[in-house]
Amino acid sequence: MTQLHPHLEPVFDDVLRRNPGEAEFHQAVREVFESLGPVVAKRPDYVDAQILHRIVEPERQIIFRVPWIDDSGVVQINRGFRVQFNSALGPYKGGLRFHPSVYLGIIKFLGFEQIFKNSLTGLPIGGGKGGSDFDPKGRSDAEIMRFCQSFMTELSSHIGQYTDVPAGDIGVGGRELGYMFGQYKRLTNAYESGVLTGKGPTWGGSQVRKEATGYGTIYFLDQVLQSKGESFEGKRVVVSGSGNVAIYAIEKVQQLGGTVIAASDSAGYVVDERGIDLELLKEIKEVRRGRISEYVDARPHASFSSSGTIWSVPCDIAVPCATQNELDEDDAVALVEHGVTVVGEGANMPATQAAARVFASAGVAFVPGKAANAGGVATSALEMQQNASRDSWSFEHTDARLHEIMKGIHDRCAETADEYGRPGDYVAGANIAGFNRVADAMLALGVI
Ligand code: GLU
Repeated sequence: MTQLHPHLEPVFDDVLRRNPGEAEFHQAVREVFESLGPVVAKRPDYVDAQILHRIVEPERQIIFRVPWIDDSGVVQINRGFRVQFNSALGPYKGGLRFHPSVYLGIIKFLGFEQIFKNSLTGLPIGGGKGGSDFDPKGRSDAEIMRFCQSFMTELSSHIGQYTDVPAGDIGVGGRELGYMFGQYKRLTNAYESGVLTGKGPTWGGSQVRKEATGYGTIYFLDQVLQSKGESFEGKRVVVSGSGNVAIYAIEKVQQLGGTVIAASDSAGYVVDERGIDLELLKEIKEVRRGRISEYVDARPHASFSSSGTIWSVPCDIAVPCATQNELDEDDAVALVEHGVTVVGEGANMPATQAAARVFASAGVAFVPGKAANAGGVATSALEMQQNASRDSWSFEHTDARLHEIMKGIHDRCAETADEYGRPGDYVAGANIAGFNRVADAMLALGVI
């Protein structure tokens, strides 16, 4: 572990003491703090105004009961969360995650990351996150709808276009957002499009939102490659996951001439040396809501493994798009041994800190999620712009805006890393650039 600056150490100790048992939140704070030494050294005004102490404390945390009735008539109880972390730059903005692993520590790690990610986009959005320990796997459409309606019945009192604008994350896509938007509309008797993003294009959504996180990650990595005089052309790429982020990352890699040879879900991974058949993957995951193991039924030359790790597959570029801490130190060592040169986080914090250190010491360009995957939330902000002006932009226009935003984030990270004496260090660049913009706004707004 890197030693923290003496101004940061006591703040971090306080985080550990005041948030016991929230390992992912501790990890996310530590990761940011390890980059901020040169910032606190240069900016005593941040230290005097207790910006560090304030930024690790959510402005508001809401925890609520979500009761609903399953298809067999049994009453089910889940727990709902919304952590409104920081609104210095704009309304709280961030997704909702429905997954059995969700507890306060996960939502706080995601909300904390979201502050800096949203700041990096340069757009007027604060940071928040929410979700539930509800497991959508195996649930019928009717069960999903009843759960979403019950969840929104409580959440609706805490959100609004100027207050807090949720979106999707793991387990929450167009279907779930539709049920939640429908319930919000019914409860408020108002078609307030700007209250949620990730909506369907026929009911206030934006073109490219579905593709944005995956496309944006690859646009960012393309900038990294260009800065090394390279491109995706002819590169072997491994993308973990097979949700929204992974699918559209694969699509963009293929459009840019790379070959994606492996993809995964929570049950295992598929290797297809001829290149992943994206139409088949979409059919399995988006239409059938099936398992990736079904891939080999239609493509017998490919292989499926339910044990081991996708990171043992040799590649030039690795794009973890599944979930937090899916890529550990051993995986990083294997990737480096096999010659990986670029790693970009499509998911939030998929690499452990030990893995990130392996990449750094091997000279691998490692791009953290708060920079690489910011295209999703950036396009959510574009959706908010369209909703506010009652407009809807074409796919091409929105995609061009996304591309431009990702290039902007890349350049901001690279320039900040240079400025602070860490050339090529995207982790330091992202953390410092993201932090400084929020810290300046917090200073300007006074002690609130
Ligand atoms: N859940 C996504 C993220 O991790 C998107 C959030 C949003 O669009 O508000 O950034």
